[in-house]
Amino acid sequence: PAPACPPRRSCPAARRGPAAMTLHIHNTLTRRKEAFVPLVPGKAGIYVCGPTVYDFIHVGNARTFAVFDLVVRWLRTSGLEVTYVRNITDVDDKIMDRARERGIGIEELTERTAAAFAEDCARLGLVPPDREPRATRYIGPMLDLIAHLEGKGLAYRGATGDVYFAVRGFEGYGKLSRRNLDDLRAGERVAVEAAKRDPLDFVLWKAAKPGEPSWPSVFGAGRPGWHIECSAMAGRELGETIDLHGGGWDLQFPHHENEIAQSEGASGKPFVRYWMHAAFLNLGDEKMSKSLGNVFTARDILDRLDPVQGGEQLRFFLLRGHYRSELGFGPELLEEAGTTLRGFYTALREVPPAAVAIDWQEPHAARFRAAMDDDFDTPVALAALHELRAEVNRSRSPALAGLLKALGGTIGFLQADPEAFLKGGAVSLDVDGLVAERVAAKKARDFARADAIRAELDAAGIVLEDKPGGHTEWRRK
Ligand code: AMP
Ligand code: ZN
Repeated sequence: PAPACPPRRSCPAARRGPAAMTLHIHNTLTRRKEAFVPLVPGKAGIYVCGPTVYDFIHVGNARTFAVFDLVVRWLRTSGLEVTYVRNITDVDDKIMDRARERGIGIEELTERTAAAFAEDCARLGLVPPDREPRATRYIGPMLDLIAHLEGKGLAYRGATGDVYFAVRGFEGYGKLSRRNLDDLRAGERVAVEAAKRDPLDFVLWKAAKPGEPSWPSVFGAGRPGWHIECSAMAGRELGETIDLHGGGWDLQFPHHENEIAQSEGASGKPFVRYWMHAAFLNLGDEKMSKSLGNVFTARDILDRLDPVQGGEQLRFFLLRGHYRSELGFGPELLEEAGTTLRGFYTALREVPPAAVAIDWQEPHAARFRAAMDDDFDTPVALAALHELRAEVNRSRSPALAGLLKALGGTIGFLQADPEAFLKGGAVSLDVDGLVAERVAAKKARDFARADAIRAELDAAGIVLEDKPGGHTEWRRK
């Protein structure tokens, strides 16, 4: 099969010789697949918008982070020296509200949630970012940026003490999300803050309010708006122009549009060469989102899966579809991903893999690479691995088994010991069946039986949580 970009003259990446890459990425800015040519040959700087740490991440968030994990791994496989930056948003209205609700300090909440996020990422097997800047530690750079924007006439102080970005002063506003400014303005309610000159102007610095965290500044005490943090952190960590910037689909507008306005407004240089956005994970017809209330946290799902297989299984499920296609979430689909993954491991258990360097000329490897180079086309890449698995089963060739393991490894799969993986850490009990039996026993007032079942499950490492309405949930200890 033809590679994604045959080495023709028109492809600048392909001209660099055999070791050079032919990776093509769909750039949200141009809505086209483009050859990925980093600013500095051999290196790539990547910035991904990270979580707002007020609650556990849900599996939708996990999808986006798994997608960029895949991107980072594949860029590294392609020989690039990648600097991967993913921020943590630790100042925000939702954080303040949640801390207040819980009666704990803001820092206590954000520290705890950030630690839980790191734990979830580790369970999912995501590579840690090289730098993980937190917004509250970059207030200085944010203020410098805002002052710079003010000096260029792109920021102004409103009557209420807030500082705004003047969208009218930035010519390219709307270019990423391709929105028409007049339509956007018409869509804004008339009751916009009177302090703004234009309804689309957005806040860079919010004047301090009693009971809220604030920092002193030349604009008066206050705290940053959401968007400015990413411009400041990306600029500080990766420079004025970065190679690749990613996030979930919903971040295109207004967040990324505003990042462009701030960064390009200040530097006069292109902010991002390639923009990537991961499509949503949906539940039914709706995107999974906290505001819709239809979320499963990543840790709840992981707790319900086999402790040995679960992380890789969930990540495999999240990456089986193409990152620009929406993905439905459901227990059967998750189970199906587990079955497929176990199929790969079974082949590796039956035919112990030899340690091999990947021969990219080998037909399966070539197909895998061409698919990955074609905007990270995981469905096609995994199809190549399926064929290779069939070939391993048929030929019983340790070299081919080694190739399967090595190719899977380029995107973070199939590296566990097959025997241990397949054995799993699963309990040999029918947990759901026993839970149902216990509910029935309690209804029949047979508390001795109900307690015996609880004890049996407890001994097997399963904790029960009785919920209102007679419903019981379980998790692993
Ligand atoms: P947040 O903590 O809400 O800022 O979200 C963190 C990341 O997850 C952002 O890149 C979001 O775009 C992304 N995200 C939120 N919901 C979903 C979803 N249902 N599917 C995929 N990505 C999502
Ligand atoms: Zn961001």
